[in-house]
Amino acid sequence: MTLDDKLSNYADLIVEVGLNVQAGQQLMATAPLEASPLLAKVTEAAYKRGVRYVHPFYNDDAVTLARFRYAPRDSFDFYPDWLARGMLEMLEGNGARLSITGNDPDLLKGQDSDAIAASQKGAQMALKPFMGKIMKDAVNWCVVATATPAWAAKVFPDAPEEERVGKLWDAIFKAVRADRDDAVAAWQEHLAELEARRTHLNGCRYSALHYRAPGTDLLLGLADGHIWKGGATRNDAGTTFVANLPTEEVFTAPHRGRVEGTVSSSKPLSYGGQLIEDFSFTFRDGRVVEVRAAQGEDALKRLLETDEGAARLGEVALVPHSSPISQSGLLFYNTLFDENAASHLALGRAYRFCAEGGTTMSDDEAKAVGLNDSLTHVDFMIGSGEVEIAGVREDGREEPVMRAGEWVF
Ligand code: ZN
Ligand code: ZN
Repeated sequence: MTLDDKLSNYADLIVEVGLNVQAGQQLMATAPLEASPLLAKVTEAAYKRGVRYVHPFYNDDAVTLARFRYAPRDSFDFYPDWLARGMLEMLEGNGARLSITGNDPDLLKGQDSDAIAASQKGAQMALKPFMGKIMKDAVNWCVVATATPAWAAKVFPDAPEEERVGKLWDAIFKAVRADRDDAVAAWQEHLAELEARRTHLNGCRYSALHYRAPGTDLLLGLADGHIWKGGATRNDAGTTFVANLPTEEVFTAPHRGRVEGTVSSSKPLSYGGQLIEDFSFTFRDGRVVEVRAAQGEDALKRLLETDEGAARLGEVALVPHSSPISQSGLLFYNTLFDENAASHLALGRAYRFCAEGGTTMSDDEAKAVGLNDSLTHVDFMIGSGEVEIAGVREDGREEPVMRAGEWVF
């Protein structure tokens, strides 16, 4: 298969399996400039399915960097309201949303961390209603990646420069199964397996999960009426879609007030253009009371200070150590890929659909069942071949869920 064939396969997967765009919908895509060949193919496939209008929003790392270098110091919390309103209006008209990632993971290294934090908070505040709709799965949405030279240099620093982008494309195609002739059928099979896992876990009704690994002993309570999700999901209009390509996880909501003990990261976290390495959190009553990091501790502390919910957990996800991305042995420095290589947790906002009745609850009701709220949602990896996870029944009895990083059932 040529690169162009695989790119076409990938575009078809994004449009058919990821977004599953319907005739008459609008599609809005945000993407790095380098995603242009992929987005052109996505656009073509979308129009062939009857999409009425595709709008690309390209972003440019050089433009982002220029802001951090030269914009007025007091301007970083600014995010244009007109843009936030327009994006929301698009979703309210049953629009679909595609996000293509691939920006330089180290873009903001060395930039003022106050400015980075302010720009993130400004965008999060302005986009809160927009993200609220996404987090409720009100519309069909999908996050995917494109290879870029800066990202490829980070993943393959030792490869000759001219080979890096091709190597990264190969890794992406493998992870999303776009290197297979029967890519769509392969996805159907994969999605059926994820559905079987989440159905099993939903039947168990565990009150908590108990994690044991080097540097980790964590008792993680699950939200009342929690629902395990994973693979395909359904939006308000009844359209089935897959929010992340790749996706290997089944996940649910922890209880915001019932997490005790210490958990250590198993992979670095690339956050806000900075790399945070070898870190751990200690929780009491669901809240982080201690944080340590060999690198990037300052960025991590700022993340925790975003708001009250940023120091609590909003997601718990299980991924077997044998997942194709984990087996690639690569560190992608991109959450979309790295989170699918390993079991992970997320600080911040919980997905409302991870609890029974969650999407129609008031904020107070959601809090009462243990769903966390925050402006932020940041995944960090804790899975490895050494993690033991037990499910804790209501009466305290523990039974194995994962042994040495693999599913027991
Ligand atoms: Zn996740
Ligand atoms: Zn997450």
